Amino acid sequence: GFYRARRLQGLELSEIVRISERARELRAAGRDVISLSTGEPDFPTPDFVIDAAMEAARRGETRYTPTAGTPALREAIAKEHGRTPAEVIVSTGAKQVLASALLGTLDPGDEVVLPTPFWTSYADMVRVAGGVPVLIPCDMGDGFKLTPERLEAAISSRTRWLMLNSPSNPSGAVYSRAQLAALAEVLMRHPQVWVISDEIYSHLSFERFTSFADAAPDLIGRTLVVSGVSKAWAMTGWRIGWGVGPEPLIRAMIAMQGQSTSGASSVGQAAALAALTGDRTFLAERRSAFEERRDMVVTALNAMPGIDCPTPEGAFYAFPSCAAHLGEGFSDGDFCARLLDVAGVAVVPGRAFGLDGHFRLSFAYATNELTAALKRLLAALEGGL
Ligand code: PLP
Repeated sequence: GFYRARRLQGLELSEIVRISERARELRAAGRDVISLSTGEPDFPTPDFVIDAAMEAARRGETRYTPTAGTPALREAIAKEHGRTPAEVIVSTGAKQVLASALLGTLDPGDEVVLPTPFWTSYADMVRVAGGVPVLIPCDMGDGFKLTPERLEAAISSRTRWLMLNSPSNPSGAVYSRAQLAALAEVLMRHPQVWVISDEIYSHLSFERFTSFADAAPDLIGRTLVVSGVSKAWAMTGWRIGWGVGPEPLIRAMIAMQGQSTSGASSVGQAAALAALTGDRTFLAERRSAFEERRDMVVTALNAMPGIDCPTPEGAFYAFPSCAAHLGEGFSDGDFCARLLDVAGVAVVPGRAFGLDGHFRLSFAYATNELTAALKRLLAALEGGL
């Protein structure tokens, strides 16, 4: 029969995909379902970006680019991060940057420290690469943030990476400069540990954003910053992200990428170049739009019985506790399944992000959709589910 490689053992369809599929089924059966389950801005890609991509295609930029990315885009990214082009790799979305970094550096049994809640893909990507995820619970009381003490306790001689994500998907936590510096101080004592800082939501921070690379200049030689245009520029489908780090690491990632995709799409790279070098006033406008939605969503959630929602400091997700509704034999997964069936609203259970007792609601949706969904959730919870 069909043989599934050992490296895929334990890897299942992501919970987010499963919920989206269930929502689609209900819709096909005639139910009116509002999905707040995916992390994708409802805004369009800016017109000037689309124009640049079309012009590039017409000019003939339709061939293989260098594996690491076009010289022009690498240059623009290097400028953005205050580094050199040799310290930059362009990949098929931020996700492939993460995959290349892990596949290019992990040997079987190597450990990767993941503060939880984390973006669902992190733990599975580590496993596929042969590594062992070491989960550190960071609960609501800590603002969902990793503390230096907990980091110290999680590090072993096998630790290769710490993966940080600020602003965070799903919690919206944003680390301050001082908080990052305190983590860096711990890492100074453990030279075997490198840092992946996933900063894909950096332009969607409602608090002052600090890159780990700026907060911890002494660790720059073992830091990989991951970012891209997917979220802030509303370019998820163009599949362009990048990594910025020490040259030997970037070279390993280029080697990995050379044998998987040969590099990102030429037209996508032309689009990303236009995004990075073009007008940015719309970024602030979109950020304020997200901030208004955040305030509305957090206020509405906190008015619901048994829901406790801290205020996200960045990204476009709320991660409220629904612990008051749970009990023996009724998990956050069951709770979300009930919300979908009773209220016709799709949200994702916390356990998909490694932290039980919560759910994630994306507010990257139009205000009227959010308002309608929140009304239904309130009615369902007041009705006792
Ligand atoms: N990192 C985080 C924390 C994300 O939430 C996402 C998308 O959901 C990604 C990376 C992937 O970004 P991209 O679409 O550029 O691959």
